[in-house]
Amino acid sequence: MTKETWVKVKAELLKQVGKNNFVTWIEPLTLSHLKNGTARFEVPTTFFGDWVKRNYGDHIQSHMNGVGAAVERLEFVVVQAAANAPSLKPVGRVPDRVAKRPEDDLPSAPLDARFTFDSFVVGKPNELAHAAARRVAEGGPVAFNPLFLYGGVGLGKTHLMHAIAHELNAREPELRVLYLSAEQFMYRFVQSLRDRSVMDFKGLFRSVDVLMVDDVQFIAGKDSTQEEFFHTFNALVDQNKQIVISADRAPGEIKDLEERIKSRLQCGLVVDLHPTDYELRLGILQQKAEYYRGQYRGLQIAAGVLEFLAHRITTNVRVLEGALTRLFAFASLVGREINLELTQDCLSDILRASDRKVTIEEIQRRVAEHYNVRLSDMVGPKRLRTIARPRQIAMYLAKQLTPRSLPEIGRRFGGRDHTTIMHGIRKIEELMATDSQMSDDLQMLRRQLQG
Ligand code: ADP
Ligand code: MG
Repeated sequence: MTKETWVKVKAELLKQVGKNNFVTWIEPLTLSHLKNGTARFEVPTTFFGDWVKRNYGDHIQSHMNGVGAAVERLEFVVVQAAANAPSLKPVGRVPDRVAKRPEDDLPSAPLDARFTFDSFVVGKPNELAHAAARRVAEGGPVAFNPLFLYGGVGLGKTHLMHAIAHELNAREPELRVLYLSAEQFMYRFVQSLRDRSVMDFKGLFRSVDVLMVDDVQFIAGKDSTQEEFFHTFNALVDQNKQIVISADRAPGEIKDLEERIKSRLQCGLVVDLHPTDYELRLGILQQKAEYYRGQYRGLQIAAGVLEFLAHRITTNVRVLEGALTRLFAFASLVGREINLELTQDCLSDILRASDRKVTIEEIQRRVAEHYNVRLSDMVGPKRLRTIARPRQIAMYLAKQLTPRSLPEIGRRFGGRDHTTIMHGIRKIEELMATDSQMSDDLQMLRRQLQG
């Protein structure tokens, strides 16, 4: 029973997880025991077992149940003990041949097959990040280390990192490319502490050719993980290995991240993915629509629909994609052409949520928080520079981000005259040209407000 069951399950898993993951994580598993609701697998290392359990455990279990094996628990036992005493003792006989190529150890997170350079639409807001990612993906001598990509959610950081990994895997298959999230990095590190296999952990992470850590802001405030990250980072940089990092903000703006790490992260190339603009959103929509037209044969999309969506959904690309997916699914269900009316019906909730306009009150609140002044000072009479300047910044943003006129803005700033508002806006424009801190601040505030 066990053998055939497992063969069938493996066929399903191959379809589900893709060839690369299958070869790396599923093929090396040996089903050694299937009894009383427990399926026991032999794995080469503790880490391997944990990884499979965490990332593929649910898939394995549900496919096993799908072929009629009532499985309630998965167990992973190590058959080839790591040098540093893993917590599980070998069970049963040690097979003569243990499938264990060096890459089998690489705790790379699964890569999304759709996230390639081909499917990445380049526009003004992301062209630098794209060019830098391309450069890294070419391999060869390390031009900048690390490459630090940052930007708000859904702007394509993970997509670009996966694209780098795909490209490197294709060009130089022998290269050890390790991609994982900072959270997974921490999880692995903590696990190694628990298993007393920190040396294995260190050895493994220092043996890669390219390390990519996604969402590094996650380790802020987690002291021992930061410490370990710092050492890993330095060791790889010393060996001239390429590192790629992403975060939701610039290195200097990550709170509770050690100074020495911040400064290390700033040493390479720091590029930011800007919020999308209309052209980029339209480009992305056109690309996805092309794909869906292939999927849902015969489904028509009326002129103007994509333009409408690009104009109305400005939050992030993930929302934009979700909208299009739903639209096509819905249209194919009801068998109708995708026109504006259907779009408005089908996406009314998303459209309403994206409609949210920035208000002057929000701007005042954010700016006050950022510069640590009282909200009441935003509308009050104080002329002290430390208060007047933030107030002028808020005026500037109010003009930029809301449709309000100068007299209207003046009223909301404690009944000031429109010439005062105009003066404030001019002042900020002047400063932005000469003071890079000021323009960075403004860019960040604008992003937060529009996020
Ligand atoms: P982030 O990691 O920055 O939060 P992701 O890389 O996960 O964002 O992107 C969110 C979604 O938007 C993904 O499905 C991704 O493919 C898509 N996406 C983002 N930017 C682009 C782009 N320029 N071209 C095509 N798809 C994009
Ligand atoms: Mg991401």
